Amino acid sequence: MPPIKESTWKTYKRLFGYLKPYRWMFVGGIITGALFSAVDVTIIDGMQRVIDEGFVEQDERFLYKLPLYLIIAMVLRSLFNFMSEYAMGLVGRGIMHDIRMQLFGKYLTLPASFFDARTGGEIVSTMTYNVERIGTSVSDAIKDLVRDLFLIIGAIGLIFYHSWQLGLIFFIGGPLVAWVLRAASKRFKEISRKLQNTMSDVTQVTSEAFQGYRTIKTFSGESQETQSFYRASNANRRQQLRMVITKSISSSLVYSIAGLALAGVILVSADLILSGKLTPGGFTVCFTAMASLSKPLKTISSMNVIIQQAVAAAQSIFAILDRPDEPDSGTVAVERARGDIEFKSLTFNYPSNQQPVLRDIHFHVPQGKSYALVGKSGSGKSTITNLLLRFYPVQPGQILLDGRSIEEYQLSDFRKQFALVSQHVTLFDDTVRNNIAYGINIDASEERIIEVARQANAWEFIQKLPQGLDTIVGDNGTNLSGGQRQRIAIARALLKDAPVLILDEATSALDNESERLVQNALDELMRNRTTIVIAHRLSTIEKADQILLLHEGQIIEQGTHQELLAMQGEYAKLHANQFRD
Ligand code: ADP
Repeated sequence: MPPIKESTWKTYKRLFGYLKPYRWMFVGGIITGALFSAVDVTIIDGMQRVIDEGFVEQDERFLYKLPLYLIIAMVLRSLFNFMSEYAMGLVGRGIMHDIRMQLFGKYLTLPASFFDARTGGEIVSTMTYNVERIGTSVSDAIKDLVRDLFLIIGAIGLIFYHSWQLGLIFFIGGPLVAWVLRAASKRFKEISRKLQNTMSDVTQVTSEAFQGYRTIKTFSGESQETQSFYRASNANRRQQLRMVITKSISSSLVYSIAGLALAGVILVSADLILSGKLTPGGFTVCFTAMASLSKPLKTISSMNVIIQQAVAAAQSIFAILDRPDEPDSGTVAVERARGDIEFKSLTFNYPSNQQPVLRDIHFHVPQGKSYALVGKSGSGKSTITNLLLRFYPVQPGQILLDGRSIEEYQLSDFRKQFALVSQHVTLFDDTVRNNIAYGINIDASEERIIEVARQANAWEFIQKLPQGLDTIVGDNGTNLSGGQRQRIAIARALLKDAPVLILDEATSALDNESERLVQNALDELMRNRTTIVIAHRLSTIEKADQILLLHEGQIIEQGTHQELLAMQGEYAKLHANQFRD
């Protein structure tokens, strides 16, 4: 046995926990697997009678019954084969499904900082590759392990029963094989961990390439992408190769040792038969039993890889499952807030970076007012909205909703108070209807959906879609234009009818007609709502009740458009530069 580290033991124990709901099926799988091997062992043992009674003594009745015995054995063997495969498959796939559900649930409750520190490729590959590893290790590896183990026990038993001398040879060859396996297993584990990392790099670069194909094509980034992909794929190739080498060296060694042992067996057998201590039938049984051992020994050595891979995969999954959820210690319930928002002496840095990105932020947005955040890219506008939505815990300072610190509210209640229309509109690969009636509004009536679609200037184009509200929008709305996607997002926000609206205006311009439709829809959405808008358009800024000008994480000027222009300060400069025409 390879030495097992404490953390590995813990992983095994925890994996066994997942077996619990399937324990009877699992036991059934083990029993039928054992019966499967028992049939094989019986067939091997039968060789003695076939040789000694059938062929040497020429017992006619026995010889004619032989085909019948064989048929019975084969039927039983197939039956147990099916039963054990089915049972273990059911257990493995069940565990996989359970872990996948648990992991997905975890992804939904992890804080924003988790996603900041990871690439999409990594997250997707944990869900697919790592989970798959665990599932197959149960449905294939454990199934084979059980069968092989029983076959090994049975075959060694037969050898000892017929000749202890031959059995002893196994006790010399066995430890040698075990030693090779132990050395190989250590290496497999290390390589398989590296292999997983290189695989997620390949996924990552690939998904970047197809998501960003427009940028790649326009900036002629093909050779750069090819180079990154070459590095990722080559690293993966090299790890795979190391795995192949270790695997083949270890199995060649196992074979060589087995060959040496067999040579010894023949030498000893010759002596035993000549001295009459072993019948030809007994010899055949021993020899067949030994030959039948080489396959299970070899599979067990490669099974080790599968199980080590599963352990490595499980460890990385458990590391995610053990991460703390988004903090939700608030107890105050709220049905509908008024929508009065205040930031008080707030300073903030992202967990990944010690540099403060917001410094001493103060402002108060009374209910129903609209405030525009203006400033250069990187000045901290999105960070303000991220904090208001409780995506990151607030450090020094406070954010108040209706006079109460936002952390005091229950998280789910709290988030109901906000609607978000972001420049990166997220549409789900579902119908237009379900994209508008998303999340808490999933049961909204058709009339209500049409009403908000009208208000969002979206009804006209929705009606023209092939299946109207039931048209599938495609992966992230690829079947729709930019303006149409934005209007669906606005309709979604209108349906949510939250007291506070967070608006991240699109920087890219739409054509005039779309622009007008989107703008009107936004005006409708902002009516009677507290709005914080990350503003890029002059018209939005001019209409805002107050403008907050951010610079390197600080509010450097605040006032209405007219007031700020009159100050002749930074805002006036920005205005002159950005909105000259
Ligand atoms: P804006 O919205 O005005 O463009 P942001 O609020 O996005 O500015 O960014 C403010 C600063 O915080 C930038 O320096 C940016 O690099 C940094 N930043 C933004 N998001 C993160 C994050 N998730 N992790 C670490 N730093 C971040």
